[in-house]
Amino acid sequence: MHAVKIPKIINFGKNALGETQYPKNALVVTTAPPNISGKWLAKMGIQDYMLYDKVTPEPSIDDVKTVIAQFKDKNPSVLIGLGGGSSMDVVKYASAEMGKQKILIPTTFGTGAEMTTYCVLKFDGKKKLLREDKFLADMAVVDFYFMDGTPEQIIKNSVCDACAQATEGYDSKLGNEFTRTLCKEAFDVLYDAIMNDKPENYPYGSMLSGMGFGNCSTTLGHALSYVFSNEGVPHGYSLSSCTTVAHKFNKSIFYDRFKQIVKKLGFEKLDLKAPVDVAAETVMTDRGHLDPNPIPVTKEDIMKCLNDIKSGNL
Ligand SMILES: [Zn+2]
Repeated sequence: MHAVKIPKIINFGKNALGETQYPKNALVVTTAPPNISGKWLAKMGIQDYMLYDKVTPEPSIDDVKTVIAQFKDKNPSVLIGLGGGSSMDVVKYASAEMGKQKILIPTTFGTGAEMTTYCVLKFDGKKKLLREDKFLADMAVVDFYFMDGTPEQIIKNSVCDACAQATEGYDSKLGNEFTRTLCKEAFDVLYDAIMNDKPENYPYGSMLSGMGFGNCSTTLGHALSYVFSNEGVPHGYSLSSCTTVAHKFNKSIFYDRFKQIVKKLGFEKLDLKAPVDVAAETVMTDRGHLDPNPIPVTKEDIMKCLNDIKSGNL
């Protein structure tokens, strides 16, 4: 048997934000300061709501506890996560604890977090990746309105992540016919949007990517990328080379077209400060990404991939 889990209701496309009906007495959780969240809330047309905007970036379980302590007695009708991953992760966890429904509204795109059962929070100062059905949104609202004003470099990194997730997800051994359909469609939408300069389609493509890979996994490209992340390289940027090399290794059907989008987005070659054999050792411990890779990977394979990335031999 296969199972695919996605939010009950998905509102997306032009004006999704303003045309969605929000229940009264909702609790909106965001990281954005009032001058920004005020604009968003006006665009939503939401009335009679409570606002909590003290979520810290890279939030911990303490942020969740604060939200619950402050609003439990006020009995919100629903929790709304409005923002990037941080706001959504706090709402995923807090709403489950409070037995409330959740609406997720991403203001950044790329990760597809609004579609997934993943939740990243810090416990005792350490980031933990949790995955449970109760973290799934009851409703997601995806609107490209938020792209306006996002710095170009962040948009490039985000769309590269969405492409990497879709194509690695397609190749994942944990996938099935339905996730492959979603992943393939996601990449087709994103490829067309990148190559033909239609950035307004990025959020839709990354939403499909989240639905696809969120029900299987990413693979070798993401495993390789974390040694670059550890040296401060942005996630999407590191995937531009890592996923290309991984697709070459896996003989993925996406290799050529992925390379084309990397070129079109104009990513530069990556550098690695750590010695290649030490970095390869670290990558080898990432079983969560390596086990579902379509081809078994040895430490020597990883060293070759890292050397190819360093020399720009993609
Ligand atoms: Zn990613």
